[in-house]
Amino acid sequence: MSSKYGILAYPAGHSLSPAVHNAAFKAAGVDAEYEVCDVKPEDLEVFMNEMKGGAYDGLSVSSPHKEAVIDFMDNISPDAYDIRAVNTVVLKKGKLIGSNTDWVGALEALKRSGVESLVGKKVVILGAGGAARAIAYGLLKERAHVVVLNRTMDKAQKLANDLSGLFKGNASGSLRFGAIEGIGNFEPDILIQATSIWTTSGTEAQILPSGYLTGLAREGVRPLVMDIVYKPRITPLLFAAEDADCDVITGDKMLLYQAVAQFETWTGKKATKKVVEAMEVALKEGLK
Ligand code: NAP
Repeated sequence: MSSKYGILAYPAGHSLSPAVHNAAFKAAGVDAEYEVCDVKPEDLEVFMNEMKGGAYDGLSVSSPHKEAVIDFMDNISPDAYDIRAVNTVVLKKGKLIGSNTDWVGALEALKRSGVESLVGKKVVILGAGGAARAIAYGLLKERAHVVVLNRTMDKAQKLANDLSGLFKGNASGSLRFGAIEGIGNFEPDILIQATSIWTTSGTEAQILPSGYLTGLAREGVRPLVMDIVYKPRITPLLFAAEDADCDVITGDKMLLYQAVAQFETWTGKKATKKVVEAMEVALKEGLK
């Protein structure tokens, strides 16, 4: 019998996930279909009860449900528990199991761009929302020195309080927080833009003081700049980073590798090169 998967979000209509996951199933010869589940927060309980009853075999979970969905899980992986967000659900033997692949996708995007080790690397994350939280978790796991800078300091502080106790044994990692305006105090090896600024304030907005990246270049620092936003693919920050001769990583890479990890969670199969390439092509098409 064909399996059924979906993207649970609201609004979910713009999602690229159906194209990406359906391409993966086809390339892998998996008899499954993946659809959009546009579910309002007030309808979440009914939807999750239907899922538990077998309506879906697995879900990708996106905004605004990543935290709320936790209440419906029978089991949650340690990473999702620590991050306090679920972006992947699988139905196994009638039980709903939640996990998080956002941090996996972010780390994989960094590794594929040539970052061999994150141990001791200085990383600044802009933002303290769900995505920043998952990325900070992954970086701490890899023993990086992480600074989370956010527009709202309280949220950055909460993130730091929640995550800093987790990896006490990781001698070389650390986590600090601050306000985005304080960016001038930092010279990161890696800068990760994880706010939704381009959606909330438009692409005319500036997340960094002008000249910050070129200033770093004058100091001999050439940071790797990743923006996790994938629409537009080359964000204003990435334009500025390219101008300042930084290496850049576009947000579609994190999206791709978090989806690859979801495919593996649901099917129990390793995503082959053919499958990953099919997902990449579908993503590229969707972003045109
Ligand atoms: P979220 O939980 O809603 O958090 C939003 C973050 O953006 C908060 O830190 C917020 O700061 C900040 N922010 C919003 N507007 C801002 C502005 N005008 N100036 C400065 N900061 C601003 O969202 P999220 O789930 O973390 O997602 C963040 C972005 O990442 C979204 O655009 C999402 O599409 C993208 N994303 C991409 C991937 C991927 O795979 N590539 C995965 C997940 C998310 P305050 O706390 O001050 O409000």
